[in-house]
Amino acid sequence: MKPFEGKVILVTGASSGIGAATAILLAERGAKLVIAARRREKGEAVQRQIEENGGKALFVEADVTRRADVEAMIAKALDRFGQLDGAVNNAGITGAAMTPVAEIKEEDWDSTIDTNLKAVWMCMKSEIPAMLANGGGSIVNLSSIYGLRGSDMGHAPYSVSKFGVIGLTKSAAIDYADKGVRVNAVCPGYSHSEMVDPYVDAAPDLMKAIIARHSAMNRLGESREIAEAIAWLLSDSAGFVNGVALPVNGGATTRLY
Ligand code: NDP
Repeated sequence: MKPFEGKVILVTGASSGIGAATAILLAERGAKLVIAARRREKGEAVQRQIEENGGKALFVEADVTRRADVEAMIAKALDRFGQLDGAVNNAGITGAAMTPVAEIKEEDWDSTIDTNLKAVWMCMKSEIPAMLANGGGSIVNLSSIYGLRGSDMGHAPYSVSKFGVIGLTKSAAIDYADKGVRVNAVCPGYSHSEMVDPYVDAAPDLMKAIIARHSAMNRLGESREIAEAIAWLLSDSAGFVNGVALPVNGGATTRLY
């Protein structure tokens, strides 16, 4: 039997990158997938890919910064599949980069915090009651290496949001520990995705320097490698793992230099 057989799992930001890789991997392992994102065409392409492989998936168009969209997303998931067992709160943006703190525009601050942090809380606010109604569940939130270290890329709002995701994850993990809902975070290093690949093409020397500094393995991660860690945290194999912020980064945060 596949490890996620009979489970319904929601992945936000599943139209590309880590979210798409996670949805596809979880479907391969038996889960029914709810794929949420704003871009219908890309989200439906992921849904089609899962269905062509024999899996079950539902694309829901949702902007996670809008409370009504988030509530409708959970309602549609329950309406289609009848339960919610897992959620990956993955949707995120980089926001403005190469901008020192005093020069950050208020609207850039707000949009990054709204998408990367407040929306994770809003999703959990709707996901957790649905999971409790079904006897429990497992949540994985996307933080970052920049949730463990300050930004060296001039994107403080991103770093702040990702530190916040860890605080939110650990707090929720305590709140629901004895109610059957586990909450963990992953902290990826630089990995191939729509967020990162444009810089690989546009600024190869900068990216080479960043990768050398940020990965002891001296390479970018693959979205699938991040998805594997997410899948483990979601699964029953991690049944006693709760409130962790797991670095998945080729060894970056193990190094002093
Ligand atoms: P991508 O840009 O490929 O994916 C981001 C996803 O988020 C897209 O599917 C996008 O879909 C979705 N999204 C963004 N804003 C919203 C919104 N308001 N509502 C709904 N969906 C939204 O990047 P990654 O795969 O790299 O990023 C995934 C997560 O991993 C992010 O949280 C990111 O911060 C984190 N991360 C990534 C790292 C990397 O190196 N790749 C490193 C560390 C962390 P759409 O535009 O269709 O809405």
